Order: sequence, then C-alpha cells, then structure tokens
Amino acid sequence: MTRTSTRPEAPAAILTPPAALGVIGGGQLGRMFIQAAQRMGFDAGVLAATSETPAAQVASWHVVGLPDHLPALRSFASRAQAITVEFENVSAAAIRWCAQSRPTRPGWRTLWITQNRLREKRFLARHAIPHAPWRPVCNTAELETAIAQLGSPVILKTADSGYDGKGQIRVETLDQARAGYRALGNVPCVAEGWVEFAAELSTVVARGSDGQAVAYPVALNQHSRHILDSTVSPAPVGPIVALEARTLALAIAQALEAVGVLTVEFFLTRDGRLLVNEIAPRPHNSGHLTIEASECSQFEQQVRALAGLPLGSSALVSPAAMVNLLGDLWIEAGGKPDWAAALGADPAVSLHLYGKRTPAPGRKMGHLTVLDPDADRALARALEARRALSRRST
Ligand code: ATP
Ligand code: MG
Repeated sequence: MTRTSTRPEAPAAILTPPAALGVIGGGQLGRMFIQAAQRMGFDAGVLAATSETPAAQVASWHVVGLPDHLPALRSFASRAQAITVEFENVSAAAIRWCAQSRPTRPGWRTLWITQNRLREKRFLARHAIPHAPWRPVCNTAELETAIAQLGSPVILKTADSGYDGKGQIRVETLDQARAGYRALGNVPCVAEGWVEFAAELSTVVARGSDGQAVAYPVALNQHSRHILDSTVSPAPVGPIVALEARTLALAIAQALEAVGVLTVEFFLTRDGRLLVNEIAPRPHNSGHLTIEASECSQFEQQVRALAGLPLGSSALVSPAAMVNLLGDLWIEAGGKPDWAAALGADPAVSLHLYGKRTPAPGRKMGHLTVLDPDADRALARALEARRALSRRST
C-alpha cells in the first residue's frame, strides 16, 4: 500500500493470536475489549492513566500515560502490533502518529468527526442523514439566532468532550440560554431543538478493513438523568424502523470509512421517524448485552476488525436486557450492594463489575444482563435483580 502524507496508514495485515493488541483508554470498554482479546488468545494491553483503571487491572501488559504524551505513546506503540481506542476523545494527531507504524482502527478521520458535535452534525447534514434541528453556537450572536430559529426548549451541548449528559443544559428562554452558555464556559456548542421522542434506539455495527459490515439488531434504550439506565434487544419496534436503523447505521459506518465497531444512537419520533442523535466510533454501553446475547459480542468484533480477521455473526441467540449499575446504588446500599440477593433471586442474571474502587453518583460501576425469550420479561428480571442489590435486609 502506498503511504501518503494526508492519509498515513500502515499496511493492512492479518494478525493472529498471540499477537499484541493495544487499546488506548483504561475504562470499562477497554477492559471488555481486553477480555475478549484474551479469550481469543491475543496478548492484550492498554495505554491507561493509571495501573488501577478497569482495563489496566486485567490487561496482560500496560503502559501508564496519556495518549498525547509522546514518550508514553511511543512505548505503547512499540509493544502493540495494532491499536484501537475505547473512547473518542483521543487527539486525532496521536492516532495519525500511531497509524504511521501500526494498523490503527478507527482511523483519525473517523475520530476527528465523531469527537466533536459540530463536525458530527455537519457530517450528518452533508450525507443527508436525518437528525434533530441544530445550530452552531460559537458566540452570543449565534446563540440568539439559534434560540430564535429553533424555538423552545433547546438543549445546549458543548462541541467537545461530552459524555453521559455532561456538558449539556436544557434551556427555555434566551436569558436561560445566555446563562447556560456562560455556565458551559462560553465554549463552542451545538444548540439542538428538543425532540419529543417516543423512544431512544441504538444500533451497533462492525466494519472490517475490507468494507464488509454487520449490524446488530436495534436496541431500545432508557435513560435516566441523561445516563443510560437500561437496554432491551431487540427493540419492540416494527420491521421497517428496525431495518431503517440498521441501514442508516451501516451507511454512516461506510461514509466514515470506519473500521472497527461503531454505534449510532437514534431518537424515534412520535410520528415514526428516526433521527440520529449521535455516533460513537466504538463499542457502546447499549451493546454490552451482546456479550451473552449474541453469537459474537461487540468487543469480539472490535478485536476481529482490528486484527483484520473475518467479522463474527451479529445474530442474537436470545432476546436480552441490560441494566446499568451506577455508583448511586452503592450509596443506597450503605456501601455494600447485596450481590448474593441479586444473584440468588434469579440464576440467569450475569453480573459484570468493572473493578472501580470508588463509587460516585452517576459513575458506571457495572451492569447486569438477563436473557429471556420474552424481551420485556428480560428487562423486568434485570430490574428486579438490581432492586435486590439495595433492598437492605433488616
Ligand atoms: P452518551 O455519551 O452517554 O450517549 P452524551 O453526553 O453524549 O451521552 P447525548 O446522547 O447527546 O449525550 O444526550 C444524552 C441524553 O439526553 C440522550 O440520550 C437523551 O435522553 C437526552 N437528549 C439529548 N439531546 C436531546 C434532544 N435534542 N431532545 C431530547 N432529549 C435529548
Ligand atoms: Mg448519547
């Protein structure tokens, strides 16, 4: 393959176990990537901020450091034969640097677009992919225009580094918008029209370097305080919506030339239209249930795509539900959730804990998954098991 200065890319080679695969980022997504890679016999490591992070705890090797610190990145890239990321907020420059010597997936362009809401919205508009009405807000004049044109309410979102609803404010009046924009630090933002959605859906796709791609069944997501609370798959939507969600997600992956796993979040409007909310160029919280519920999990797909191996099947072996375990639960349970009660009440519950030592409100500590031929019942059972965690015996 020829190397150009604009699209530097290492030659695509198939890596087989026990090759060393590396993930940038030490959170739970990195941890589950590493676990999937290890199961397949790869030598899986991480570049993480500390050796206590969820991913570093389970990795076969780790480098402590940040991706924009060249010595750390160099040491990481000297060990990893191929590189992926667990979050999108890695500098595109660092990814380009890695890609000069190692297959690096997703590539810098995919990250560059999806790590910034302004670029992501422009990408959606350019490709005529349906999304909520929005305006760029980089100063107060643009803020006034946005409020005048979008109506009320509006949600202001910082262009960079938002997750789990952080960096977002819902505003109803121009005064609130001015105050909200100040509270967000007067940084570049996107103003989005409020969507009165009927449901939130997501589709995880995996795409190989040869352009082959698979989409998982569309999932139904419930958020609480802007944080994902539960996922049910398949979503109880009609075949047309289900097909359209998968088609849009695959089209987005193709337009981004994304290699690896990518997730598209949607709003389903009351009149049955799908609007793309956002794109995550990586496995997603709503795909965690694929570990038990799919023939090949989203994390194994990430491993396969990174290694250049054929993708696995995205078919569900059973309908399933996942509920998140946030730090709040530890607080409600006096610091000690009742694991025995939750697991004892329902032997089909799968427990995942991420090894985080300090619970905090809103912090994702783990999740529960339940498979059941009836997706609604899977959710009811998962919720019941979660309730048992903090139902203190007296
Ligand atoms: P995450 O990374 O966890 O997906 P995020 O911080 O990137 O979250 P968004 O997905 O943009 O943020 O928003 C979080 C949630 O807030 C959405 O899932 C939805 O419930 C609500 N929300 C966001 N934008 C809108 C909107 N325009 N209209 C109605 N609700 C919205
Ligand atoms: Mg989101």
